[in-house]
Amino acid sequence: MLYSNLFTKTTKDIPSDETSKNAQLLIRAGFVHKTMAGVYSYLPMGMKVLEKIKQITREEMNSVGANELIMSSLQKKETWQITNRWDDEIVDVWFKSKLKNDTEVGFGWSHEEAIIEMMKNHIASYKDLPANVYQFQTKMRNELRAKSGIMRGREFVMKDMYSCSVDKDQHEKFYQETIKAYHRIFSRVGVGDITYLTFASGGAFTEFSHEFQTICNAGEDYIYIDKAQKVAINEEVLTDKVLNMLNVKRENLEKIKTLETGNIFNFGLVKSEQTNFKFTNKEGNEQLVWFGSYGIGMTRLMGVIAEIYSDEKGLKWPESVAPFKYHLVTHISEKDTTEINQKILNLAQSIYSGELKLARDNKGSWRVIDVNNLSDIADFSLNDFSTSDQIFWDDRDGVSIGQKLGDADLIGCPWQVVISKRSLENGGIEIKDRNTGESSVLEV
Ligand code: ATP
Ligand code: MG
Repeated sequence: MLYSNLFTKTTKDIPSDETSKNAQLLIRAGFVHKTMAGVYSYLPMGMKVLEKIKQITREEMNSVGANELIMSSLQKKETWQITNRWDDEIVDVWFKSKLKNDTEVGFGWSHEEAIIEMMKNHIASYKDLPANVYQFQTKMRNELRAKSGIMRGREFVMKDMYSCSVDKDQHEKFYQETIKAYHRIFSRVGVGDITYLTFASGGAFTEFSHEFQTICNAGEDYIYIDKAQKVAINEEVLTDKVLNMLNVKRENLEKIKTLETGNIFNFGLVKSEQTNFKFTNKEGNEQLVWFGSYGIGMTRLMGVIAEIYSDEKGLKWPESVAPFKYHLVTHISEKDTTEINQKILNLAQSIYSGELKLARDNKGSWRVIDVNNLSDIADFSLNDFSTSDQIFWDDRDGVSIGQKLGDADLIGCPWQVVISKRSLENGGIEIKDRNTGESSVLEV
């Protein structure tokens, strides 16, 4: 993508009511637009990050055998009355509205009841199970507080998955497989080391649930970790009963501030009982479906990554979720000769088109290779090659190199590639690691 073709601008102006670091950075870098408190729009750069997080999640949900779908946002009152969750006293985050004929409708804040109602049309026999589905959906929640930027939205993207199993064994197996898949997601997006499977309260229907809590200063929860045993417990369920159950001693726990990035609920048969969700077993008898629900906040995860992977200059995205892997900066000056300027442009154009590639060898050092040069291609130590869609080229005219480099630091792509008169004098193209600040010059 060319910077000259991107409509968003980096800015120093942030809304005066925006107090959270993630939203401040994302607004300054042009990734999100604040529509109102707790409501954000995702601009091209922000959407790229969000889509990468979604794609990693999608791959892992597919790997446990779930089907992707999209449920409706508008919800019927009757769907939620069955479990008594239409009541605002019980669910205090509903956004509700009315049809022209005065019929009440709600905007989906979860889809547990809606999924069960829909699944009843597809599950009749044991042969129809297991059935596991997931979606990426914009959830609406009328949250009381919205001070954590995109980490707590009144409208936000969630990945929610639901499992329908034939018996306890199948159900438990899927639950455990999902825990593993969740760990893979968190580590692929760069927060694996700081995300803990946490014993937590189950809410309205189950006594306990498992949360995935990510260590983050701007978090809203506290968890207690037994580092040796790798057990984490949410503050809200820290009782003697739970400590006994998990075989953990209070004095071995360390209190840490975290943010809930994922939550999984093992409903067992409870929800199916309430909703009369049944199938016919091999013997021809009716039986309840084993049900589980598994969420990860996609936009919240993006916010956590922004909080953690940033410094005073701006964002520092991990490669797996960066909007672009390379931020190419060219500097053309009227003071330089036409020949130098032409050389800069030609080099940049060749990298952008893929004729020249930035290639990394298995020791991690970079080189520029020419795809038309056989000896370059035959070098088997090279295992990582740039592609056009990974390159964001700051090709703007009349913008100083200082401003361009400042933008590159703010936007936070992992590799900054600079071609200027100075870099050519130093021997070629400069490549700099946004995270470590280390740079090297690649011969051309
Ligand atoms: P919290 O306790 O933070 O309010 P929750 O327990 O109500 O969250 P769940 O119903 O478990 O949230 O939703 C599943 C996941 O969706 C959460 O683990 C979190 O990652 C994300 N999520 C929940 N609420 C929000 C929100 N308001 N904004 C962004 N993400 C959210
Ligand atoms: Mg939760």
